[in-house]
Amino acid sequence: MKDLMTYLDYNATAPLRTSVIEKMTAALKIIGNASSVHRFGRIARQHVNEAREALAAFINAEAQNIIFTGSGTESNNHALRSVKADVILASAIEHDSVLKAHPNTILIPVDANGIIQLDDLEKLLIQHTSKKIIIAVMLANNETGVIQPVKAVTAIAKKYGAMVLCDAVQALGKINVDFKDLDCDMMTLSAHKVGGPQGVAALVVKDSTPLSALIQGGGQERNLRAGTHNVAGIVGFAAAITELAETWEDEAGKAKILRDMLETKLKQISPRAVIHGASADRLPNTSCIGFAGFKAETQVMNMDLKGVAISAGAACSSGKVKPSHVLQAMGCNDDLASCSIRVSVGHASCEKDIERFISAWTETMIIQQNKQTDLDKISNA
Ligand code: PLP
Repeated sequence: MKDLMTYLDYNATAPLRTSVIEKMTAALKIIGNASSVHRFGRIARQHVNEAREALAAFINAEAQNIIFTGSGTESNNHALRSVKADVILASAIEHDSVLKAHPNTILIPVDANGIIQLDDLEKLLIQHTSKKIIIAVMLANNETGVIQPVKAVTAIAKKYGAMVLCDAVQALGKINVDFKDLDCDMMTLSAHKVGGPQGVAALVVKDSTPLSALIQGGGQERNLRAGTHNVAGIVGFAAAITELAETWEDEAGKAKILRDMLETKLKQISPRAVIHGASADRLPNTSCIGFAGFKAETQVMNMDLKGVAISAGAACSSGKVKPSHVLQAMGCNDDLASCSIRVSVGHASCEKDIERFISAWTETMIIQQNKQTDLDKISNA
């Protein structure tokens, strides 16, 4: 199989940073269980605690507010299941790990740019007054990159005594994430979206949040998340964060230049291309683009054959590609939604990647258009 040369799918997972590989390689040699009393255990625990401090400092939280978990999916499930809320009010564009976590989840509509409708949120809060409510709103969407007014949501939530879960998995390292300033009760983060390892994440929880354990067992993480610590993984998460603390603004600036270059060139080649959420505040690295008449899975496969990795802005289950619920919630019709791709750049992306994307995409468009012309000739014959 041809090696993939151009990786433009950072929102699915980002390649490990070199500093992460180095620190994790050393950490894999740590012998102790972080819960053990002896010195081996104490050394392992020290690494976990230092990682907790580094993460807390980066997002302006307290170290005691950080619970290490095994994935962003687990963190979202933990937040929504263990607080024992009666109702979850979730923005219609949330990740499935939010939308599928609780049996009583009501969707808050978004506008055409994919931004949560605050009036509708307030109406729902009034309708469900006297119930224990968690509002789930992501800081930035994984498909479109559109940024949500989380501070406004927490202000409204306070008026009605509701809690707020903010999924900041995609926002971390791309825009400023400030736990105290956003004032949410819980926040989800995941290491592999920032160049850390897969299978390590965090749930950040205000002291006042009535959280209980989701996974039962030992007393790790202040009795809130049982299971032996993944020391090397946690060290890797902290290594990515430590690097980002120095570089995130430069990385975000570089990502925006590349993303904007890509969108400008695509629009020149194909003026009919639709950039979802283009007029909203977006993550600097993400572009979700619809090309009517050109199925997303075909685009992804054709690009893969040319050595460029992107993803379809649609969910794939049981072999069928369904139009994205995010684009549907934004009022995009199913035809365009099923013809939409996501391109996301990151810390190791460069101009050459954008050039390769554009030339591969131009070639696949020509092939597709020629096929269409042949089909038109046959049907007109
Ligand atoms: N939330 C958002 C917005 C995501 O994009 C993802 C992963 O794509 C998750 C949660 C789940 O995180 P993880 O892959 O660590 O389970």
